[in-house]
Amino acid sequence: MAARELPTRARVVVIGGGVGGASVAYHLAERGETDVIVMERDELTSGSTFHSAGLVGQLRADPTLTRMNMYSVELYRKLQGTQTPPGWTESGGIKLASSTQRLEEIRRQISWARTFDLPLVEISAQDAQSMFPLMSTEGVVAGAYLSSDGHLDPSQLCYSLANAARALGVKFFTHTRVLGITTTEGRVTGVSTDRGDVECEVVVNCGGIFAAEIARMVGVRIPIVPMSHQYVVTQPLLEDPSVVLPTLRDPDLLVYYRQDVAGLVMGGYERNPAPWTADMTHVDDIPADFNGRLLPEDWTRFEEITENSQIRVPVMADAELRKVINGPEAFTPDNEFCLGETEVDGFFVAAGFCAHGIAGAGGIGQVMAAWVLDGDPGMDLWHMDIRRFGGQYRSPSFTLKRTLENYSTYYDIKYPLHERESARPLRMSPAYAWHAAHGASFGEKSGWERVNHYEANAAAGDEALRPVGWPGHHWSPAVGAEHRATRERAGLFDESSFAKIEVSGPGAPSYLEQICDNQVARGIGDVTYTQVLNHRGGIEADFTVTRVAEATFWIVTGTSYGSHDLALLRKRARELGADVRIHDMTGQYATYALWGPSAREIASTLTSADLSDEAFGFMTSAELTLGDIPVRALRVTFVGEHGWEFYVSSEYGASLWRSLMEAGEPFGLVPGGYRAIESMRLEKGYRVWSTDITPETTPYEAGLGFCVKLDKPGGFIGREALLAQKEAGISRRLACLRLDEPLRVALGSEPVRIAGKVVGRVTSAGYGYTVEASLAYAYLPIELAVAGTRADIDLFGEWIGAEVVKQPVLGSTR
Ligand SMILES: Cc1cc2nc3c(=O)[nH]c(=O)nc-3n(C[C@H](O)[C@H](O)[C@H](O)COP(=O)(O)OP(=O)(O)OC[C@H]3O[C@@H](n4cnc5c(N)ncnc54)[C@H](O)[C@@H]3O)c2cc1C
Repeated sequence: MAARELPTRARVVVIGGGVGGASVAYHLAERGETDVIVMERDELTSGSTFHSAGLVGQLRADPTLTRMNMYSVELYRKLQGTQTPPGWTESGGIKLASSTQRLEEIRRQISWARTFDLPLVEISAQDAQSMFPLMSTEGVVAGAYLSSDGHLDPSQLCYSLANAARALGVKFFTHTRVLGITTTEGRVTGVSTDRGDVECEVVVNCGGIFAAEIARMVGVRIPIVPMSHQYVVTQPLLEDPSVVLPTLRDPDLLVYYRQDVAGLVMGGYERNPAPWTADMTHVDDIPADFNGRLLPEDWTRFEEITENSQIRVPVMADAELRKVINGPEAFTPDNEFCLGETEVDGFFVAAGFCAHGIAGAGGIGQVMAAWVLDGDPGMDLWHMDIRRFGGQYRSPSFTLKRTLENYSTYYDIKYPLHERESARPLRMSPAYAWHAAHGASFGEKSGWERVNHYEANAAAGDEALRPVGWPGHHWSPAVGAEHRATRERAGLFDESSFAKIEVSGPGAPSYLEQICDNQVARGIGDVTYTQVLNHRGGIEADFTVTRVAEATFWIVTGTSYGSHDLALLRKRARELGADVRIHDMTGQYATYALWGPSAREIASTLTSADLSDEAFGFMTSAELTLGDIPVRALRVTFVGEHGWEFYVSSEYGASLWRSLMEAGEPFGLVPGGYRAIESMRLEKGYRVWSTDITPETTPYEAGLGFCVKLDKPGGFIGREALLAQKEAGISRRLACLRLDEPLRVALGSEPVRIAGKVVGRVTSAGYGYTVEASLAYAYLPIELAVAGTRADIDLFGEWIGAEVVKQPVLGSTR
């Protein structure tokens, strides 16, 4: 039969006929967008999908991903009733703890699961064995069971989604290879294929391991590494295959299993992973004919997994193998998906599923359809947003090192504040050598080395304040010492990693007013704290804006958010047709914060500038000199103490740090790190984007209504939604809870229970060294978000009493 002709235009072109592409197409059509064509260079499910093991586990460390996976299960149940069922077997799933630390992790997960109504329960080793009789209980401490987990046939899922999409009007074109993507003025206008060209407005790149190659067609970098991933399928060994076995994971032994008719599938995450076609100097280079194909078996790499599999399921020792599958899968440097719109308008990506694409496909399709049709995914997808990757990910070696580290430690327990080790040090402050020489304990964010604390300060701290359990792992008494020194005298903090963005040009004032909820184009030298909202009023970004000249503004945002915020600002500028230049100047300036009651006295020894409140008010900025060095000073604080952030051209950075330390010595100035900042900001109630405030929360709900200027001329994006919310009244508010036991510290995502009902989840938490209390923030129903309300927070399976307290917990100081 002659191949159907390609249409000459379609609104949306989806590239890739795996589970990703089929699901995105289905969900677009389900939302009513049926002018969609899917292009697949070979047959459907001829990429990674056909060789998947098909396990569908729902619970993940990230609440959003868990919600997405739960939706996938809902969808797979529904598809099971169609004419092309995906082979969904709701077998339940077991996760074993073969160590006490793993049991702690499991208890923590059980507590999160409560916030989603996921029926995850703790079970004994014997319970696990009664459900999965082939397993040995040797070394098993306990386990968790989730009755709604399951498995399916991945290729069948792909066909099932594709058929559902076809039924709604989506057209699929197999044996159609996309060779190029055309753009005009930074916007997608079409694709060229080996069967002709198609005009379109939107391209969704669902290319799996090929996604990076496809993105290169428009000069976009997607840091995906094809990694070989292996599992085996045994010959029949189950006595009664009609008894459905749950899926089984034993992360301490690095292995997973599922039933395959009368045999077992067994796979795992090796400690010595193997990238495929990518190395330290080259990005992926996948053969043009790699479809429906596998990689050669690799027994050397699989040795540890094979041995471990026999410990947990002894029959594996004698099991004959029906097949060995070694296939490439798209892994990312942080084990999270790559979703969203790239810097090219209309060019979206949904790839890099890190061996979770089957579990994730339903949810991925749903959020991507919303992203394409509504302009935002409808939920907080920051962890998966393609805009999270900074410039360092253009490097094949950086990308590969991080990917290998994450793959090889995939099943390891990561204690809070765990730091990655690969590709360090990379980005350093000019004062880095000083920090290293003075006992700094460094953490890493976006490639930057940042001081967490100085071990040298530990002697002045109090070991008795070490939090109980997990939060006590990467803890140092130095944090308390740095916190107290800042509150009592002064602290100096190196914040050079802050992302700094300059917005300039004739259109800058009006552009910024249109995208910010606060009034930011005020007097020259004024500093404004503001949010950038989506049309639902959700917070897409949160930063300060300083007007440094008539048409020049500095935006300062968090270290991790630089590339995200830059992409957001540029996108909004294109949408508004703003005459602005948006320039990343992060590396040009070092930033040091001098905060504390003695900050003014210390700075005054270095400058003749008038630093009084009258001359240099809060939330203003000025250029001055400190000793020999020209700086821009911003009178701002993130810790609730009086002081300044000094922005200095990088070549002066080392000198300025030294000068400030020397000037501060007579006043008892102490250098401090990010852990102390975190503790102080919790006491003062400053919000952090990505935890306390997200695209799913509005300024009113977050207690940031003081930033919202509903009446400013011309309005701003999100105003109508906020206006409606203000009129209707908010139904929840970010509350601060003080735990009854000071050394029991929450880590985030724990359920908050009031009157026996789970009503919220912790957004961020920690210990406040001045208030001597364990603090946690959570969105609570408005009637409960009032001081005095009693609550409980589930820490590792134990409900700890807490009370809602007035904010800020520590009174006002600047
Ligand atoms: C061994 C193994 C076991 C796994 N086990 C599990 C599991 O148990 N559970 C789980 O959830 N996940 C698992 N996964 C992961 C899962 O299989 C993948 O995440 C998922 O299948 C990826 O789907 P996709 O649609 O992104 O990519 P793919 O299925 O690879 O689809 C991408 C498609 O794009 C097409 N394409 C590429 N370039 C072009 C072009 N230029 N023009 C047109 N078409 C193009 C390709 O031909 C391909 O068909 C496993 C993966 C492997 C390798």
